[in-house]
Amino acid sequence: MQLTDKLIKTIAKTSGAYGIIEPNDKILVAVSGGKDSYGLLYLLHILKKRLPFPIDIVALHVAQGQPGVDPAPVIDWLSASGIPFEIAREDTYSVVQRNLKQGATPCAICSRLRRGIIYTRAEKLGCTKIALGHHREDTLATLMMNLFYSGKLQAMPPKYTTDDGRFEVIRPMIEVAEADLIALGDEQQFPIVPCALCSGQEDHKRRYVNEFLDAVQETHPALRNVMLGALKHVNPSHLMDLSIARTKKTQLD
Ligand code: SF4
Repeated sequence: MQLTDKLIKTIAKTSGAYGIIEPNDKILVAVSGGKDSYGLLYLLHILKKRLPFPIDIVALHVAQGQPGVDPAPVIDWLSASGIPFEIAREDTYSVVQRNLKQGATPCAICSRLRRGIIYTRAEKLGCTKIALGHHREDTLATLMMNLFYSGKLQAMPPKYTTDDGRFEVIRPMIEVAEADLIALGDEQQFPIVPCALCSGQEDHKRRYVNEFLDAVQETHPALRNVMLGALKHVNPSHLMDLSIARTKKTQLD
């Protein structure tokens, strides 16, 4: 099976299981210039043609005014794709520079600003869903970071509603292996435009848990699929969350 078909199949299965893509959805896909968001848009565009119901897809690229970063390759690719798209030119770079504390990484401020821009554009465009390019490795790294550093059992959901109730945020590629997205990027020659602020570098905790999982995977090749399976088979009564334990006790009283 060709790589594109394999990935479409995975996305369609995830979507069916979690109600990610539904009839008459208008989905905004933010394309950053990285392999994941290119891959997401490319795959959703093909899936759209194969679905038995109509959906709309709009791409958005936020040109953030980073010195030395030229959005032209992204814009050219979007123009050639035939997918409707918008470019938001917003100088988040200067805002990040003004507000960044010494030694801090820019991603927290930068992504908060970008999220605000994406939500505003999504509303203007009449989109009800916002698709993010997170994949299997992202959700498992988040799970491990929360376990190791935050003391909670939490990964990334395939779908959730924003706090203000305006949008559903969807992660169609949550079960896709990152290696397949790298291969897709190579195969399709996506014109990658790296971030100039942090060069796409993972923060050191994320890098550590990914290296940890890579090391275990060397002797346990199915590791990440097994972990993904664990996220679908949760047994809350065998954990120690007091809110669950109290509910159970009340039921027994
Ligand atoms: S990788 Fe770059 S563009 Fe993305 S959030 Fe971090 S600083 Fe912003």
